[in-house]
Amino acid sequence: RAKKNITDNFKYFAKDIEDKTTWRLNMIRRLRNDFADRKLQLWFQPQVDLVSEEVVGMEGLLRWPDGEGGYISPAVFVPLAEYSGLIVDIGQWVLEESCRRIEQLKDQGYGHLRVAVNISIPQFRDRCFVRRVTDALSAHDCDPSRLELEITESVVMDEPQIVVDALRSLKKHGVAIAIDDFGTGFSSMSYLQQLPLDRLKVDRSFVSDIKPGQTAVLAETIVTLGNKLGLQTIAEGVEKREQASFMIELGCDEAQGYLFARPMPFDDLMAFLGAKQS
Ligand code: C2E
Ligand code: MG
Ligand code: MG
Ligand code: MG
Repeated sequence: RAKKNITDNFKYFAKDIEDKTTWRLNMIRRLRNDFADRKLQLWFQPQVDLVSEEVVGMEGLLRWPDGEGGYISPAVFVPLAEYSGLIVDIGQWVLEESCRRIEQLKDQGYGHLRVAVNISIPQFRDRCFVRRVTDALSAHDCDPSRLELEITESVVMDEPQIVVDALRSLKKHGVAIAIDDFGTGFSSMSYLQQLPLDRLKVDRSFVSDIKPGQTAVLAETIVTLGNKLGLQTIAEGVEKREQASFMIELGCDEAQGYLFARPMPFDDLMAFLGAKQS
């Protein structure tokens, strides 16, 4: 009996893996086709100065239409794009698209705004990565400091030397660098000082810990660390007024979150900026 159960369990297990593998391969095939058909979109979420609430920049976020009026979450498809290697080409498109938008922003009188781009580890493994970034910048006549690369701790820990070297070289070109989702990965404390960082992004999970009457020790510690290292700090996922107020008290510089604006297509972002100005 026991033996039969084990055999049955194994069958279910094997079937489960097979289903998941089929699903993943299907998704990857659809993603490859849709990317080739130029169906991916790059949306933008404003980043604001916490005190003045003026827009200081934005983060580019991928959107994949599901063909039924909705979108497949990047939390689902970016890992598949990384696994399949597709992220190298998709990420290059994201970089070029961002530089194109930086140029458009400048033409519309928003030349002071920066655009942040998420970078995955396979992009760093490409030996031409640094040149790809600088080529994209010069093709659109961009001020390099308007482009910010967002790197998670896991990217740094995966290939410390490659990443440190590439970022140092990009920093020399004037590109800005932020550490994303800070505090959630295996911390790269020893690399923190080796990396040419400009900004530390306090992960959403620490910001959502901020509730009336409670102490948010981790948010506080991360902002203090950032300040001591001479970095700018930005709070991710600010949804409530009290979270913004608390982050101001801690000395956090900027914020990004639904309280201020959700990610939106570039044209909507231009309208949003125009409405804020008038
Ligand atoms: P991330 O880089 O940490 O991006 C921030 C995520 O938080 C975005 O999710 C954004 O929509 C969400 N967010 C912003 N404010 C709030 C808020 O107030 N409340 C809540 N609940 N969420 C908020 P999104 O767009 O689903 O992206 C998820 C992740 O997918 C990103 O996390 C990033 O890791 C990855 N991703 C997105 N676009 C790209 C890309 O172009 N390249 C790469 N490599 N990864 C990307
Ligand atoms: Mg990010
Ligand atoms: Mg983040
Ligand atoms: Mg995140």
